[in-house]
Amino acid sequence: MHERFAELKNRLAEIHDLRRAQEVLFWDQTVMMPPGGGPVRGAQLTTLDRIAHQQFISPEIGRLLDDLASYEDGLDYDSDEASLIRTTRRDWEKARRVPAELAAEMVGAAAEAHDVWAKAREESDFPSFLPHLERAVELKRRYVACFEGYDEPYDVLLDDFEPGMKTAEVRAVFDELKTELVPLIAEIGSVEGDDAFMSGPFEIDAQHELSLRVIERFGYDPQFFRLDLTVHPFAASSGTQDIRLTTRYKEDDLTSLFTAMHECGHGLYEHGVSQTLERTPLCHGVSSALHESQSRMWENIVGRSRPFWNHFYPQVQAAFPNVLGDVEQERFYRAINRVKPSYVRVDADEATYNLHIILRFELEQEILAGTIALADLPEIWNERFEEYLGIPVPDDSLGVLQDVHWSGGGFGYFPTYSLGNIISVQIWEKALAENPELPAQFERGEFGELHEWLRSNLYSLGRKFTPQETLERVVGGPIDAKPYVRYLKEKLGALAAA
Ligand code: ZN
Repeated sequence: MHERFAELKNRLAEIHDLRRAQEVLFWDQTVMMPPGGGPVRGAQLTTLDRIAHQQFISPEIGRLLDDLASYEDGLDYDSDEASLIRTTRRDWEKARRVPAELAAEMVGAAAEAHDVWAKAREESDFPSFLPHLERAVELKRRYVACFEGYDEPYDVLLDDFEPGMKTAEVRAVFDELKTELVPLIAEIGSVEGDDAFMSGPFEIDAQHELSLRVIERFGYDPQFFRLDLTVHPFAASSGTQDIRLTTRYKEDDLTSLFTAMHECGHGLYEHGVSQTLERTPLCHGVSSALHESQSRMWENIVGRSRPFWNHFYPQVQAAFPNVLGDVEQERFYRAINRVKPSYVRVDADEATYNLHIILRFELEQEILAGTIALADLPEIWNERFEEYLGIPVPDDSLGVLQDVHWSGGGFGYFPTYSLGNIISVQIWEKALAENPELPAQFERGEFGELHEWLRSNLYSLGRKFTPQETLERVVGGPIDAKPYVRYLKEKLGALAAA
């Protein structure tokens, strides 16, 4: 191996170790740490972040990349080595553009705004949050100004989560989705059913046992995975062999089953990255949307499908005989796939969810462009929400204040949720075309073939290629809303018609 390449790889491995330590400390903070540890933990995370960032943007990394240019030319584009150099160059050039002072100011502002936002949401008091939102937007504009060569400013924000994706591309895909979804939801969103049994009570122990039973079938292996409790579920990892899933349980719903499947999807992706990429910056899922495509794949496409429930419903019924003993499977299936416009994004069903996202995507662009006054945001939110979802917003805590993202300056992230939905079906159609037996296998509680197909075609690639290149390799083309629209129409349309 080229000596300079070995040097680069060593340096990146150390930086990667620091990043992974941050991830485990964060996991510990939200899962294990007693509340009093907060301030010191915050300082520890900041220290690790600063050291990792400084080491990465150092001129020596730049010199190594320069020295390796001709070595890279001689490598196969698909090789781990070429991918590491190429991806690191892109990351390095981007990371160096943001001055440390601005980065620190953004972190500080986000930390300050968080508690103000939480209180404002609780009290439905937008004016108290407004100055913090104004500051977050101002900082984002300064952040955008660090970059050049974009078509529109929002491209810069999107690029942090979906490298290479253009706003215009997202707009085109979402416009198509919106045109199809608004009338579809108006049609099927009014189908009523008696879903009272969905509010339990469901014993927590039984929920936990069932969650594990389901995700063990998906590929959760206790040798490499954990499942713990937290307030806002997420998945973290310290490497491909140490995957931390988190969930939460409530007696009055069965959301935990879907949460476990969702986080397991994220975990399977991280676990499936090729071990040749371990301790390199390529050892991660490639982007937010691709990652979300995998959580949605396991949660929705698999976990809300008829074949899945043909296998698991008797077990769920047996776990909660008092609640579900007399509920036919078809009623249960309809209840977990019910389309009903609601205010809160995180509680939304598979179809209306996307309209919540499209609303935020549109507003974020207008906020960044300055074409709407931030003080008018609640009014604009409420107006447009009713236009898209057909229900009036009762107050700002169920409206414009519901999400944490903007308080932390997290503009550009929302669209990746729906992009993930769209991509999940593109990948599913490809997997199904190559393995037509998959639904029959689900009926038998077997998911190994789907897992293996995803592992070898997607998970193993890690961050070797751009998200666009990755998708191209998996499905043979670019992002396309049509398969997703088709999927929703077929699945949900059938429920409305019958
Ligand atoms: Zn997710």
